Amino acid sequence: MSIGLFYMKIRQGMHAWHQAGISIVCALAIAACSDATPTEAPVIACDNTKLGVERTITVTADTGSIETLLNDREVVLTFDDGPDPRRTLPVLDQLDLQCTKATFFLLGEQADRHPDIIREIGRRGHSLGGHSWSHANLPTLTTEAAHGEVSTGMDAVNAALSGTGATAIMFRFPFVATNAELSADVREMGLLEVGVTADGADWTKNRPEASVEMILQKLGLAGRKGVILLHDPFDKSDERVSLLLSRLKQDGYKVVALGSAETGQ
Ligand SMILES: [Zn+2]
Repeated sequence: MSIGLFYMKIRQGMHAWHQAGISIVCALAIAACSDATPTEAPVIACDNTKLGVERTITVTADTGSIETLLNDREVVLTFDDGPDPRRTLPVLDQLDLQCTKATFFLLGEQADRHPDIIREIGRRGHSLGGHSWSHANLPTLTTEAAHGEVSTGMDAVNAALSGTGATAIMFRFPFVATNAELSADVREMGLLEVGVTADGADWTKNRPEASVEMILQKLGLAGRKGVILLHDPFDKSDERVSLLLSRLKQDGYKVVALGSAETGQ
């Protein structure tokens, strides 16, 4: 069975059990962990002490705002600016420890240098998107140059995923900076633009505790739900995500994963 089909089957199982009111997300994730990472990663005991994944939203270019699809205390985890050869894998390990899934928005030039990390992100069941080729501030470029940043960035991510069965169809603008013309162009390219509800200002090199408090405050202001942004390539990225996940669990938040129907990822 392909990994994509395997995860599809897990999701179908998750849905059925969820309907029955039984939380078995993590029990199924045990199988996912042991299948997807047969040698190097330990099998995690994914019981209800872990954050897990509540449900998956299947996205297309026409999905619209993710925030409007979330219920009370539901969050989507996202990471920007990777992949990073030293810091992305420790972030993936922290996500595995809480049996949860995120979406990674990747830079084309980094994807080009580290395609193996892109594949590892997909192999561990996370979804992927583009974040431009070089993290340019797209509204400051000509329309053509901005289009090129988006398309070459997506091409690099998808080249890294070639042969895995996964395709990246989500995009986040660098600095979350866009305008009506650019957003329309991205939609016409068949991509779903994903925004941000709550960030931890981790680019300021603030302490993980401060970052996490900021995220929780912003979620509170947004009606206790939303899309969370952190960055995987930063110093203390793994500490920051570890703390965030335990606080989300403590505060009763549930993680919603984003997936693509086309690829089962
Ligand atoms: Zn960025």
